[in-house]
Amino acid sequence: MLLRHTPSEVSARSALTVNPAKTCQPIGAMYAALGLHGCLPHSHGSQGCCSYHRSTLTRHYKEPIMATTSSFTEGSSVFGGQANLLEALTNIFHLYDPTVVAVHTTCLSETIGDDIPQIIQKAKDEGKIPEGKYVIHVNTPSYEGSHVTGFAGMTRAMVDYFASKPSFEGEEAWKARRVNVIPGWLEPADYREVKRLCAALGLQTVVFPDTSDVVDAPKTGSFEMYPKGGTPLSDLIESGACRATVALGPTASKPAATQLETKFQVPAEVLELPIGIRATDRFIEALRKLGGTVPDWLTAERGRTVDLLSDVQQYFYGKRVALWGDPDQLVSLSEFLVDMGMRPVYVVTGSPGKRFEKRMAAVLGERVPEAKIRQGATADMFLMHQWIKNQKVDLLIGNTYGKYIARDEDIPFLRHGFPILDRQGHAQFPTVGYVGAMRLIERILGLLLDRKDRDAAEPAFELTL
Ligand code: SF4
Repeated sequence: MLLRHTPSEVSARSALTVNPAKTCQPIGAMYAALGLHGCLPHSHGSQGCCSYHRSTLTRHYKEPIMATTSSFTEGSSVFGGQANLLEALTNIFHLYDPTVVAVHTTCLSETIGDDIPQIIQKAKDEGKIPEGKYVIHVNTPSYEGSHVTGFAGMTRAMVDYFASKPSFEGEEAWKARRVNVIPGWLEPADYREVKRLCAALGLQTVVFPDTSDVVDAPKTGSFEMYPKGGTPLSDLIESGACRATVALGPTASKPAATQLETKFQVPAEVLELPIGIRATDRFIEALRKLGGTVPDWLTAERGRTVDLLSDVQQYFYGKRVALWGDPDQLVSLSEFLVDMGMRPVYVVTGSPGKRFEKRMAAVLGERVPEAKIRQGATADMFLMHQWIKNQKVDLLIGNTYGKYIARDEDIPFLRHGFPILDRQGHAQFPTVGYVGAMRLIERILGLLLDRKDRDAAEPAFELTL
């Protein structure tokens, strides 16, 4: 009972977060940067920040995450980090030879007020950035935002620094085929699934960022600093000439899509993440409207998902669920849970962002009037636990940090989201698309029926459920 001191009485708080349902901005910026081929994330701050961010990503993906740091000491904390970043860039290009260095700031460098664009310009002027190499940046102070906004910021920085509108011979035919897809913060298997669906409809796409084959690269016996995955820089450069953008997850992907629209008049459609049948249908429909053709086998895949759900929905009906994590994940997951007959009654996210509560209301509709939805600094795991103490739920869905509540309250727990530090395999199987929906159904069903078996009295312990 590690959380035995959590009281069931909920009192008003305005300035205290206990066990936040988010983590810090630079982690997201670092993860997004890994989704660009040949890119090395760089943390402009002290070594501790970079170690924490790298180790969290390493523990989640079970892969060594490469990133460099400006290694602030007392001197840089007082006089600023310009000298450190200039020296770092010289060393990085000399030692590690990336195509792109993606700089993100930290609390310390933001508090000092380092002007990163000015430092990058100085590095250029002094010849510290070799020909054909690039340095990009995003500001990620962690006293605001969350890992998701850090991810969104770095994705937008990719557009700011690289997107252009080159003209091609036969441009119209080229444009008619290509579509930007900004998939948001997903697991590498999810990126693969998004690309599989786009290819299934016959569309040529520019997908960014894309960490497949970077944080889940195959074991070959030799170390590769820059694995073969990640969005090719040449694709990103052409993103301003695409016919349209489909952005998945408004919190993580809308800023980049809006930037493409503003700078290059590439029309953007912003959808919720394709988690669940209906959200996947909307994604497929958006691709179809852009010229894709839905193959029969994909229709059959959808049909199998619907069949599975209709076979097992009696086990889900009326089950109360508590969820925490990232806004984009929570909205789509909640919609899918409601479609499965379940009741997402408690939902918290520490990530700020506009319209979360409205988006949740849209997917829950009138169907779960008792739902408590919270966002912000006091929407934390402590509050979630208090709610659960007052009225129990049948299932928890969220990142690893929920394991304490799951154990103390004896509730089945589905690990989903970021970070997952105590299990493996989550990065290898998609939860988006129809196959992702089938996997979610199978995993949730397994948890609920395992609990039913465990609690069954001997006369009611059935071989067939
Ligand atoms: S919260 Fe700030 S100081 Fe702490 S690890 Fe994150 S960036 Fe570094």
